[in-house]
Formats: sequence, structure tokens, C-alpha cells
Amino acid sequence: MSTFASTVRARVVAEHRGLLEIAGIPGISFGLPRGVFADADDPLSRPAVGDFVQVLPQVGSDVALIEAIEPRKSVFVRRQVGRRARVQVVAANVDTVFVVMGLDGDFNPRRVLRYQVAIADAGAEAVIVLNKCDLDPTGRQGDDLAGTVVRVSAASGLGLDRLEPWLGPGRTVAVVGSSGVGKSTLVNRLLGEARQATGGVRAGDDKGRHTTTHRALFELPGGAALIDTPGMRELGLVGEGDGLDEVFADVQDLVAGCRFRDCHHQGEPGCAVEAALRRGVLDADRWASYQKLQREAAFESQRHDEAAQRLAARALQKRFTEKIGRERDRRRLGWKA
Ligand code: GDP
Ligand code: ZN
Repeated sequence: MSTFASTVRARVVAEHRGLLEIAGIPGISFGLPRGVFADADDPLSRPAVGDFVQVLPQVGSDVALIEAIEPRKSVFVRRQVGRRARVQVVAANVDTVFVVMGLDGDFNPRRVLRYQVAIADAGAEAVIVLNKCDLDPTGRQGDDLAGTVVRVSAASGLGLDRLEPWLGPGRTVAVVGSSGVGKSTLVNRLLGEARQATGGVRAGDDKGRHTTTHRALFELPGGAALIDTPGMRELGLVGEGDGLDEVFADVQDLVAGCRFRDCHHQGEPGCAVEAALRRGVLDADRWASYQKLQREAAFESQRHDEAAQRLAARALQKRFTEKIGRERDRRRLGWKA
């Protein structure tokens, strides 16, 4: 197999059981990560959907070698639940996430907050899309949400032009939200064709079976890219706390104002949080959701730390085994160490 001299830029558009589908280079369909990625101990170092990669085309083949991953602007990870907290990249380089809420009863400000935290943590921007505005005659729901809010009706197309600022060439978007809020309807609108059966079965489910292989990154008519995978749609709370800082900057300012650094905000003298709650400066609900999210974030980051330690231990073990092996070979060949 002979290789071209220099690398070319491509983008990972799908991943099927370790096989990477890439786009951007005529005649090239797949990317094969070099050994360095293939058995890397750090799952975050493997190329994933949305990654921009530098590849080396092979003469007469539609498979190119992936030489490097360009630094990610954002990265969404999934921590698989179970005894071992396994981290997996769901999508890379998403600029904007449309957080879809249905104005037909699903509307839940706390869930919006959770999404905002997770999205800020990943390094992307959240745009709250209040769908089914045709069913909210008052037009008032969501008025008190913090952040960018856009009201649309995906079914009728009403208001969709307001999403255009995030759909220009070179931008990447994704869609999240609970089941039934209208994600498929919105995605079909954005794609300009009925790609998915609305209200129907998804291409991938979490039953642990083989999931239908399909593309995960689509080009939209306006030039933007849409990353649409089950994993991305079902984005949950992930967080080390940075996102929490951003969404709750005002609350954190209050906490910083407590007299004691380790204040539990439970009757300690000079507690700025309790003072703010008393004066009505801080809303009790907001304080409760801040505490809840902080507990969850602490739990997540602890699991993350444990997983990282296990990975490090395994890497060390592997290096040790390799070293032993090398020394054995040397001795067998009669070399001096
Ligand atoms: P998903 O589960 O989030 O992908 O939601 P779907 O796109 O499958 O939509 C769920 C249901 O909501 C379907 O019956 C859609 O027809 C309906 N729906 C989607 N958008 C709108 C809308 O803007 N207005 C109304 N009234 N119904 C909508
Ligand atoms: Zn306090």
C-alpha cells in the first residue's frame, strides 16, 4: 500500500463499530485510525463523529489513514452507567445545541437548566427552542427562561427562520429534548426532506443490540452541519461543574459572599445565601435546583475521577508488561540491557 505524501482534512460523519466514515475528500469514504488511536487507553483520544481529522489517502483505496485529530471546539461525552463508568465521545465540534421543549405540557424549566449546564460543560452554546407554539395561545410560557429562547412550530414551519443565525456555512448544530417534543419534525424541516418517520422508531436504541448503521452528520441546505444521533438526542447531565458556574454565576457570587468558606448555608452567621433568600433576592426554587445540580455534578466528577484512575492503572500495567517482554526478548537474543 502506498501513501500520499501529505495529509488532507476530512470530517468524521459516522462511526459503525469502530469503522469511521469520513467526508470531505473525493473518492475517500472511510478513515482508519493509526495504531496510536486504535488501542489508546483514553477513549477521548479516539476520533468521533464531528471530529475534523488529518488523513493520509492511500493510492487506489477509499480508506484513508487518520493521522491526527484537530483540537475539538466542543465535546459531548456519555458516561455509561454501570459498575464501570465508561466515557464515550458522543459528538465533537458542535457549536450550537437546539434544546427542544414542547409547549404542550412537556415544558419544564428545570430540565432546560440541566441541558444548559450540560451544554456549557461541553463547550457549546444552547438555544432553547420552544416548539408547538401553535398550542400556546398566550405565548407566555418560557418568558422567564434565562438564555436564548426561540418560539417555533416545527409542524407548520412557523418561526423556523429565527434559527437561521445558527445555521450558516461552517456551523454545526445538534438537537436534544425529551421524546415527543418534536425533534424529528424539526430535524426533517431543517433537512428539507422527511428523512425520519415522525413519531416512529429510532435507528438506534439502548437495548444493547446492534444498531442500524447510518450517517450521523448531515449537511443542511444552508451550509451548516447537523449531528443527529440517538446518543446526542438523549444527552443527559454531564458535568465537572464549569457549566454550573456559568448558568448560576449569580448564585456562586452569593456563595462566595458567605463569611465562612465552607458555609453550609444552614444557619451559619454571615451566610449571604440565606440573607438573599430572606430578602427575596434569591429564589428558593433556583437555590434548590442549584444544590441538586451541584450534588449531581459532584457525583459525576467523582465517577469520572475513578474511571480516569482505572485507565491510568491499566496504562501503567501495559507499559510494565511491555517492558518485561522487551527485556525477555533482549535476554533471549543475548543483548545487553
Ligand atoms: P420527537 O419524539 O421529539 O422526535 O417528536 P416528533 O417529531 O416525533 O413529534 C411528536 C409529535 O408532536 C408528533 O405527533 C408531531 O406531529 C407533533 N408535533 C411536532 N411539532 C409540532 C408543532 O409544532 N405543533 C404541534 N401541534 N404538534 C407538533
Ligand atoms: Zn452560606
